[in-house]
Amino acid sequence: MTDIDWIARAQARSFEVYNVIGGERGPAGGAARIDKFAARNGALLYTFGEGARDDVDRAVMAAKTAFDDGRWSRKSVHERKTVLTKLADLIEAHAEDFALNESMDVGKPITAALNGDVPMAAGVLREAAAAADKLHGASAVDGGIHSYQLRKPIGVVGAIVGWNYPLLLACQKVGPALIMGNSLVLKPSEFTSLSACRLAELALEAGVPEGVFNVVNGAGAIVGDAIARHPDVRVLSFTGSSATGRRLQVAAGQSNMKRLVLECGGKSPYLIFDDYPGDLDALADDIIRDTAYRNQGAVCVSSTRLLLQDGMRQRLLPKLLERTQAIEPGDPLLPDTTFGAIMNEQHMDKVLGYVASGLEDGAQLLCGGERILRDTGGYYLSPAIFDHVKPSQRIAREETFGPLVSLFTFRTEEEAIALANDSEYGLAAYAATGDANRMHRLARDLEAGHIILIGSLEAAPGGVVFGIEPAKQSGMGVEGGVAGLVPYTACAHVMTLFNG
Ligand code: NAD
Repeated sequence: MTDIDWIARAQARSFEVYNVIGGERGPAGGAARIDKFAARNGALLYTFGEGARDDVDRAVMAAKTAFDDGRWSRKSVHERKTVLTKLADLIEAHAEDFALNESMDVGKPITAALNGDVPMAAGVLREAAAAADKLHGASAVDGGIHSYQLRKPIGVVGAIVGWNYPLLLACQKVGPALIMGNSLVLKPSEFTSLSACRLAELALEAGVPEGVFNVVNGAGAIVGDAIARHPDVRVLSFTGSSATGRRLQVAAGQSNMKRLVLECGGKSPYLIFDDYPGDLDALADDIIRDTAYRNQGAVCVSSTRLLLQDGMRQRLLPKLLERTQAIEPGDPLLPDTTFGAIMNEQHMDKVLGYVASGLEDGAQLLCGGERILRDTGGYYLSPAIFDHVKPSQRIAREETFGPLVSLFTFRTEEEAIALANDSEYGLAAYAATGDANRMHRLARDLEAGHIILIGSLEAAPGGVVFGIEPAKQSGMGVEGGVAGLVPYTACAHVMTLFNG
C-alpha cells in the first residue's frame, strides 16, 4: 500500500461519469453540464450532463420491466445471495480503483478510503445477504384457517444518496433492495458520482440481470426530484440532509405515497462526565480523531457538540486542543495523510460561513477555522473548536458537516441531558461515564437513534449492529440488520381456508 504512488495513478487514469440503464452504459442527459473539481487541487476531474427526467423514465421502465418478468424478483434468496456476495468480492478485487474514486471525489485520505470505505461497502452487501433468510413472517393455524405473513419484493426502489461516503451509502441501498428481490434506480450525489457507475457495471459482472440495477446521474432538483415523484417507484430510500428529506416527503405525498426511508442529518452530542474512569488521552483521541473530525468532519454521526462537565473541562480541554492543533490537513493521495481536503469549494465556503457566524454570535474560537494550503488549489481547512457556545447559536444548532466543534460546559446530569436533547436532530449521542446507573438513565433519556455509552475504551473490538432508526428530524425507517430489510418488502397477510 505505501508503495503505491497514488498521485501518478490518478494522473494516469481517466475519471468518467455515465449512466447505466438497462445494462447499457450511456451519457447523462440534459443541456447544462456539471463540472467536478478535485478536492485535493481544484483541477477539473470530470464533467457530465446535469441529467434529465427522461433518463429517469427510461431507468424506471427498465427496472419495472425487469421486476415484472421475474428475472431477479423470482430468483431464490439463495441465488440472490450468491450474486450479491460475488459483487462484494468484486468490490474488494477493485479496492484500489474504488479507493481512488472516493479520495478524488470526496477529498478523503486514500488510506481511509482503502481501509475503511471499501471494506465497509463490501461488508454491508454481505450483511444484507446474511440477513435475508432471517426475516420471517408469523404463522398460525386457528380453526380451519391458516394465517401467515408473506414477505414479497415490492417493485422499483429509488435510492438517492449524499456525498460523504459515496460507495458505502450506495451499498447501504443496493444490499437490502436487491437481496429482497427488488429492482433499483440509484442516483449518487452530483458532487461525487464516480463509484456508483462502476458499482452498477460490476453488478452486471457479478450476475445481477440487466435492468435490475440502474444508475442515473445528475442534479438533485432534476434527477432526484423525478425519482421522488415517479409513479412507478414504490420505495424511496434516501441518505442526505434533513432539508432534502423534507422535500422528499412532499414529493412522495404529491405523487403515489411511495414508502420512505430517510437517513438524514445529525448534530450529535458527546457528553463527558467527571466520573469517567478511563485514560483521558485515549478519550481525547476518540473524541477528536475518531468521532469529531473523521472524514474531515463530514460524517452524519460526527460529535459536533462536546458537553464537558465542570471538573472534566480543565483536565480534558488542553488535550482536545493539543490534538486538534496537531492535525495536519494534507494531500489526500499521500498515504500518510489522515485529514484530507473539503469536498468542494462551495462546501468549504459553507463551513467558513459557519466559522464567521460563530464569531459574530460571540463564541470564542480556540483554534483553526481557516482556509490553508491555498497554493495547492485544493480546499483545505484547519479544524476549529469554538468555546462558550450558546445553544441558540447557529453553530450549535445547524449541521456544519465540516471540521467544526462547539464546546459547552454543564454541572449536573439533568443539565447535560437537556443540552444534548436541545436539537431538532436525533441521530447519535455519545457519553463517557463510569456510573452504570447513569448509563441506563442516559440510554432512556437521550433522544437519539444510536447511543454509544463509554465506560472504557479498552473494550474488545466487536459489537452487533441491529439496524439504526434515526430519531426526530434525523429521519425515519431502519437501515442495517434484519430490521433494515423490512422497508424493502411488502408484507401480505394471507389466510388459507382448508377443509378438514
Ligand atoms: P443533500 O440532501 O444535499 O443531497 C443528498 C442527495 O439528494 C443528493 O444526491 C442530491 O442530489 C439529492 N437531492 C438534492 N435535492 C433534491 C431534491 N429536491 N429532490 C431529490 N433529490 C435531491 O445532502 P448531501 O449534502 O449530499 O449529504 C450530506 C447530508 O447527508 C448530511 O446532512 C449528512 O448528515 C447526511 N447523511 C446522513 C447519513 C445517515 O445515515 N443518516 C449518512 C450520510 C450522510
